[in-house]
Amino acid sequence: MGQVVVLHVDHLKANYGPVEVLHGVNLHVNKGEIVSLLGANGAGKTTLLHCISGLHDGKQGGIYFNGVNLMGVPAEKMVGMGMAHVPERRQVFSTLSVEDNLWLGASHRLPKTGKKIIREEIEEIYQRFPILKERSAQLGGTLSGGQQQMLAIARALLAKPQLLLLDEPSLGLAPLIVKEILNMVQEIRNEWGTSILLVEQNAHSALKISDRAYVLHNGEIQMHGLAEDLARDARIQSAYLGKAVTHG
Ligand code: ATP
Repeated sequence: MGQVVVLHVDHLKANYGPVEVLHGVNLHVNKGEIVSLLGANGAGKTTLLHCISGLHDGKQGGIYFNGVNLMGVPAEKMVGMGMAHVPERRQVFSTLSVEDNLWLGASHRLPKTGKKIIREEIEEIYQRFPILKERSAQLGGTLSGGQQQMLAIARALLAKPQLLLLDEPSLGLAPLIVKEILNMVQEIRNEWGTSILLVEQNAHSALKISDRAYVLHNGEIQMHGLAEDLARDARIQSAYLGKAVTHG
């Protein structure tokens, strides 16, 4: 049975003014896949996600979401098309309650989807993330870093995306919390079939939960393949997994 491609990035170039930072990137995400995008600081990972979700204008090439070319489609249209983006450093609404943050995630679906259904989905989210239920009346800004990351992901899920773009969900979090969050990402995919493009510097954790991965280096895809193969690759181990490579 053939795979259904949800996202296809085709020879994508991106620039900031005169400086080109992505030099013809090709990648794809199949339906229900978790795909990691690995790479060092400044490789272009965030720029690539911004290009996909319409937040970066200086770009050339093709970005196809369910076969529709997204070049020129503004960011505010993406949620309605089935794409949600959780940017780096989360960005929950700090002066709104946890529950209001969640309602905001679903707001574009109202009134087509009734409040009762969204209420039920929020309850489902609370079952999955019990800490959010406990803190539902608390202001978003009073949550810990890990809880804010959970809230940001939960809010994005209430948009019912087919494709979720996650930019460094582990940033600044303790290893145990990182594990919890990435496990959650895997459960979401397993249960809801959401396709996920995950940007991570934490290559070890990302490869563990991914089906495939791409390595971005100075704006070019340097390697790609099955996550389990990349995790065993000596070049990846030396560059991103902190393991010394023995020659000979
Ligand atoms: P990090 O993990 O540090 O976020 P990254 O892989 O996400 O790195 P980008 O943030 O996409 O990389 O940056 C890619 C390149 O673009 C870098 O050389 C960076 O300095 C440059 N860049 C990023 N944002 C801007 C900007 N607003 N103006 C000019 N150059 C930028």
